Amino acid sequence: MAESMEGLKRTARCAEFTVEDIGKEVVIMGWVQKSRNKGGLIFTDVRDRSGILQVIFEEDICGSEVFEKAATLHNEYCVAVTGNIRSRGKDANTELATGAIEVEATALRILSEAATLPFQIEADTNTREELRLKYRYLDLRRPPLQKNIFLRHKLCIAVRNYMDEQGFLEIETPTFVKSTPEGARDYLVPSRVHQGEFYALPQSPQLLKQLLMCSGFDRYFQLARCYRDEDLRADRQPEFTQIDMELSFADVDDVIAVNEGLIKRIWKEVLGVDIKTPIERMTWQTAIDKYGSDKPDLRFDLPIEDISDVVKDCGFSVFKDTVADGGMVRGIRVPGEGHMPRKKIDALTEVAKYYGGKGLAYLCVGCADDGSHKCSFGKFMTDEELEAIIKAMGAEKGDLLLFAADKFTKVCAVLGNVRLALGKQLDLIDKSAWRFLWITEFPLLEWSEEENRFMAMHHPFTSPMDEDWQYIDSDPGRVRAKAYDIVLNGTELGGGSVRIHRADVQEKMFEVLGFTPERAYEQFGFLLDAFKYGVPPHAGLAYGLDRVAMWMAGAESIRDVMAFPKIKDASDLMMGAPSFVDEQQLKDLAIKIDTETIEAK
Ligand code: ASP
Repeated sequence: MAESMEGLKRTARCAEFTVEDIGKEVVIMGWVQKSRNKGGLIFTDVRDRSGILQVIFEEDICGSEVFEKAATLHNEYCVAVTGNIRSRGKDANTELATGAIEVEATALRILSEAATLPFQIEADTNTREELRLKYRYLDLRRPPLQKNIFLRHKLCIAVRNYMDEQGFLEIETPTFVKSTPEGARDYLVPSRVHQGEFYALPQSPQLLKQLLMCSGFDRYFQLARCYRDEDLRADRQPEFTQIDMELSFADVDDVIAVNEGLIKRIWKEVLGVDIKTPIERMTWQTAIDKYGSDKPDLRFDLPIEDISDVVKDCGFSVFKDTVADGGMVRGIRVPGEGHMPRKKIDALTEVAKYYGGKGLAYLCVGCADDGSHKCSFGKFMTDEELEAIIKAMGAEKGDLLLFAADKFTKVCAVLGNVRLALGKQLDLIDKSAWRFLWITEFPLLEWSEEENRFMAMHHPFTSPMDEDWQYIDSDPGRVRAKAYDIVLNGTELGGGSVRIHRADVQEKMFEVLGFTPERAYEQFGFLLDAFKYGVPPHAGLAYGLDRVAMWMAGAESIRDVMAFPKIKDASDLMMGAPSFVDEQQLKDLAIKIDTETIEAK
């Protein structure tokens, strides 16, 4: 039977008591972590968000009525205990923060009982994630998740304080907006008042924050909810939070300066870690060429080298023909790994194939029994040709060389991922490192084979680099953008750009992207109109807050730093969302469900 807490006031949280409190009468409230009856003594661990404190019920002290009630306690009962803090003396538990003390109980109220639990509330669990998400409110009682949610709170407060000090205004933008075509698929909300019409949930506050610059707010930020209806890959959620910002009268360096300050501040405040600034910068081209990725993990080296020139006339037709067809041959030197077992090389070849490559060619320098080279393509090459490759790769006896020959994007994807696999396999990654990196000078446009047209690599409002704009007609792929990403340990934490603020440049950009002036106006008219009335040059950036929190918490997944995440098919297992709705609700919206299509699925 549940009792009231009438007349009781909690003294402090369980783990806030110390040896300083010995002798004091206290009231604690929390959940029963576990309770053991040892004859005349009952030991009960009471837990709240601060931690655990041991309570002792001794029949002689608390009386038989309280003792009998204590004997009925089960895990996760919610209780209030009155008693005196005493020392545990030589029985102190060094594993527990409060292990030197305990509460000698004099009274107990059971505030509410708990049914049999679907799983135990423990730090370590091997309960299936689906079950934990169904009972997320219980899962969230577990200490590691409590810790993550605390960390996230601290992070948000640190961001807010810093942004405020830097003169940024926190401004909320609406979640019902107009659907726009660029980027991912929109989540739609049907309108009852305007039947047949829909709002979209924002993929990001991009256009609105630009309008706030037009309005003269100068510096804006927001912890913004964003929604994207994509098939979920690992570490994506249909709704997520961005640390979103925009600055007027700012260029690339201004954005980077503000954000290096932010990174320094939040890492110091949340983790006590000093991040060195300035953070290294690398152009997109260098990153792709050297590491095969626009978010290279620089916690280890193993750069990619181009040997196309060296092999363009060689005897190995795969290399020769690839170069002749406009492709390239690139390789990675793995120092001292020339004796890597064939099985491991095969596993790396599988990685290459997974990323669309045909395979990997290898050369183990001087690793055959007779001191010659072991090489998958050696029989097609002269000694001179092999030596030229070894020299170009800067290799020494005992090194392993791995090569891919393909089109540019494929070679990058293949070797970039083989490099990552090597980093893991050879244990080259310093797990304690915080390796930040700015990637700059992204291409403005990206050719889409699917759509047979150029797409904006960042978004259509991203400014080109002034010196490249001249190529927009003759060689659009060559135009670089004033865009930047912030990368941490090989993952993208955020990105942004300087925006286009000139009407003529924006119009041209829409034209290149294949928008007619009418369509551009229909979609983005409010922005184009606003830009007629004096628009400041502006720039911005957004981080995935969940991802930042995940890294800081050392969590495996962004779900572990979100209170109520969804699973891969975008459903919420606890609420049971999405769900069917009443016939009347649909009628109000003038919506008919196409049951045939649903059933066919
Ligand atoms: N709105 C952009 C995004 O969500 C970020 C930015 O350009 O500020 O990726």
